[in-house]
Amino acid sequence: MMNENVLNKLKILAESAKYDVSCSSSGTVRANKQGTLGNTVGGFGICHSFAEDGRCISLLKIMLTNYCIYDCAYCINRRSNDLPRATFSVTELVNLTIEFYRRNYIEGLFLSSGVVRNPDYTMERLVRVVKDLRTIHRFNGYIHLKSIPGASRELIHEAGLYADRLSVNVEISDETHLKRLAPEKDHQSVFAPMSYIQQGVLENKEDRQRYRYAPRFAPAGQSTQMIVGATPDTDQAILSLSSLLYQGPTMRRVYYSGYISVNAYDKRLPALKQPPLVRENRLYQADWLMRFYQFKVDEIVDDAYPHLDLEVDPKLAWALRHPEYFPVDVNKADYEVILRVPGIGVKSARLIVASRRFSKLGFYQLKKIGVVMKKAQYFITCHELPMQTINELTPQRVRSLLVTKPKKRVDEHQLAFPFYDEMLGTTSAPVTEEVTPTLFLE
Ligand code: SF4
Repeated sequence: MMNENVLNKLKILAESAKYDVSCSSSGTVRANKQGTLGNTVGGFGICHSFAEDGRCISLLKIMLTNYCIYDCAYCINRRSNDLPRATFSVTELVNLTIEFYRRNYIEGLFLSSGVVRNPDYTMERLVRVVKDLRTIHRFNGYIHLKSIPGASRELIHEAGLYADRLSVNVEISDETHLKRLAPEKDHQSVFAPMSYIQQGVLENKEDRQRYRYAPRFAPAGQSTQMIVGATPDTDQAILSLSSLLYQGPTMRRVYYSGYISVNAYDKRLPALKQPPLVRENRLYQADWLMRFYQFKVDEIVDDAYPHLDLEVDPKLAWALRHPEYFPVDVNKADYEVILRVPGIGVKSARLIVASRRFSKLGFYQLKKIGVVMKKAQYFITCHELPMQTINELTPQRVRSLLVTKPKKRVDEHQLAFPFYDEMLGTTSAPVTEEVTPTLFLE
């Protein structure tokens, strides 16, 4: 039976934690062992379930405390907000996690915290929670621990011995904008813990090569989160930073969180009626292009196009800007070239290369392989005579054929920052339809 006091804390601290989106859990596989509680399943990502608003909820997503000495403008838990506050003791949180796990409510823990006293004081408590879970309760489920910006190397190192994944949120890609909204933070306080995590993982890899049973350090690597739409940071700035972070061998995911207007009274922030979900979705798609489609960041956004096209996905946008690359002969072109064709995903590209060794591929075979011919037809030639490609039709015509006319036109950039154009010296960004965000990208 759960103590009422703990239940109240749970309500407050789960509510306070819900705005953090970086809680996907894939990345670790750990079997159940005798004497331990639970297991961690990789691949499918045991904790991938999403609430109505698209946020992941299947981990116990909780804060140790929502008290905070900082006053970050974009955060619901900032010290100047008058809201119910609570703090779990280490034992309360450990027992709660174990209880939820035993009842099969959760498959892991996503733990973050406001900053109390100072970063190390807070981090030390977070570490105690995960340490007790692992060492006293033999908890073997997934743990994602948010490290506190500015925490020391020693505490980060200890955290890595018990957590599957560690993360430190960048929040805002441009440091000047970050300091304007969160004066107590800077990039150094985020990048330093990130480098400690990286060092820990790499050293651990060497240790495990020498000694098989050396304890693992943050086996699911690290992730981070950037808020989108709270500042005038361009998609170019955001994606350039992501690209840089992905060059580190331990950065697994950058999450993009459309800014939710939780502190509308703060005039430093844009007055958004709804989070920029289409933009958030386009950033995820661009992120996929960088990670799985061999795109460089400056092929997706550059000085001439600092923002992603909200009307079409970034791969199609790139193809429309580069008709000279097309049409691609799917029966001859290299895998990397085929991968760039709109309508062809990683799986289809692999299947094309494997299947064409046996027979020439035509429209029917490509459709069977899973190619979205509605899109791809303007960019390829195949066994049959080519239909009209982008070069005969012009990019504008292809665009109009592929974009469904929006009922309601919203320009998220313009809504958020009416002064964008002036700042960027560009004409109006294209209008966009409000679509349900999807990560589907071909
Ligand atoms: S430090 Fe974290 S919890 Fe505290 S105000 Fe800033 S974002 Fe919110």
